[in-house]
This record gives sequence, structure tokens and C-alpha cells, in this order.
Amino acid sequence: MKLACDAMLGKLARWLRILGFDTILFDSKTPDAMVTKKSKGRILLTRDKRLARQPKAVYVLSHDIEGQLQEVFGALKLKSGFPRGTRCPLCNGKLTRTARPISIPERVRSCLFWRCQKCGHAYWRGSHWVKITRTAEQLHAKKGIPKCTATPIQQV
Ligand SMILES: [Zn+2]
Repeated sequence: MKLACDAMLGKLARWLRILGFDTILFDSKTPDAMVTKKSKGRILLTRDKRLARQPKAVYVLSHDIEGQLQEVFGALKLKSGFPRGTRCPLCNGKLTRTARPISIPERVRSCLFWRCQKCGHAYWRGSHWVKITRTAEQLHAKKGIPKCTATPIQQV
């Protein structure tokens, strides 16, 4: 399932990418007509009541990321593609395993690295990974969102 987020849901878009969903994010300068046009073939997640009237849209009420994820997973009956399908939270590109990039600081002890095929950013299992895994596990306990086990999150 492909998703699109309006400019007010940037954090949600990054989380959905981490959880394995192809998610585009519009910026605040994108006119509503363009949002409608470019979100064809996707489910639009929006905090704009007018945009939410289009056929394939979900109006997101929550202000916090946990509530937003619960709403979206509940409304769309989503199952996480995590960790295999994890996408780049910055650009929505696909991640592939890679050898340790030269740009990784020596202090990083991880032996698992990924690189975004689209923007080239490198990721590894670091402190962000621990935080996101913990949050995702809490969501799982509350609302049945699939339990997380591993993902590349730390950005170079
Ligand atoms: Zn990227």
C-alpha cells in the first residue's frame, strides 16, 4: 500500500517509511490541487479537512506520533513491512545492505550498515534504532502494531 502525507505530517511520513511503507511527503508550498493529483494511487493522510474529503484519504486527528500511527494502522489495517522493507526516512528510497562505509565514524561499533539507493545516506543500528524499537514495541502492546525487531536508523 502506497501512502502520501501532507506537510503537517512529516514525522508520521518518516515513521511510515521506517516501518516499510512507500510514503511521499508534500511540503507546505504544494497547492491542494497538486496534492490531490500527485497522491493518486496512494492513500492520502492529512490533517486538512478539505483534502480528507477525497475518496482515498484518512483524516488524522492526533498530534503525537504514537496516536497518529495508531489511527493510521487502525484505519488502513496495515501490517508493518519492518524491518525488511524499511525505507530511507529522509527521501523514501529503498535501503540495501552495504559494507561499512568509509564515512562512518570510528566510534560506531555496529557491524550492520545500509545505504539509501536514492540519496546515498548511510544507516546503522544505533541509539535512534533503540528508541524507535522501544516506541514501536509500546505501540504493538497498545494497538496490535507488529512488533519491531531490528532496523537501520542512525544517519551519517
Ligand atoms: Zn534516502
